[in-house]
Amino acid sequence: MNQLKFDSYNFVQVGKVIAHTDKFLVENEIIFIMIGSTGQQQPFVSPVSGVVTKIYVHENDILSYGSLILEYQECSHAVIYKDLCAVCGKKVDKTLEPSNSMQKVTAIEPAFSCVKTTRERAIKYDSDERNLLLRRRKLHLLIDLDQTLVHTSNSPNHYPSSDDIISFYLDHPVAQTLYTKLRPGVKEFLANLQSYYVFHIVTFGDRPYADAIVKLIDPKGTFFSHRILSRDDSIS
Ligand SMILES: [Zn+2]
Repeated sequence: MNQLKFDSYNFVQVGKVIAHTDKFLVENEIIFIMIGSTGQQQPFVSPVSGVVTKIYVHENDILSYGSLILEYQECSHAVIYKDLCAVCGKKVDKTLEPSNSMQKVTAIEPAFSCVKTTRERAIKYDSDERNLLLRRRKLHLLIDLDQTLVHTSNSPNHYPSSDDIISFYLDHPVAQTLYTKLRPGVKEFLANLQSYYVFHIVTFGDRPYADAIVKLIDPKGTFFSHRILSRDDSIS
């Protein structure tokens, strides 16, 4: 536990206290309003960040050098997005990462492959997800794209002429126009099973292709939302 103490040699009176316990305090957030000897008011902003566990200052208290302001618990940086802590916003390099084995959450949320969290949090997330599914009486259903929901070719002459061939341009991994035919009844299939399953796309296609195809099948994100696992999303 860390303590924040008043470090000015001037006496000040405490006005309104803004900070709350159990709330995350970020640096430069106002803790309380200071009232000076001539009545002028100015905010006392936090030089630290963390979860406030106890507040010692009350309205009308007089503070002097060394007076306790609050106790706080420093951020454990338990959720990291790229190299930034998702809780406090600090840049977190390897040396600041919690020692208890950070892991990517790709396996549980493939769309968030840049997010890392502690093993404990990942396990809790996984169990919360499972309990939610049990309450909804649903199962996960992993669905492939190619030769399952769609067929795609890079040749305009692959299919006999038909108005249900959708062409689209992708510039990755090479710039090309692709021609996709949805499996007949694919949207009805998904709509009929949606009350029993949470769908995930699992494809060997790369991420831009997977995103483009899912947009064709599910433009509003009703069936798959962000649950797309492509070969670009490493599972570790
Ligand atoms: Zn943090």
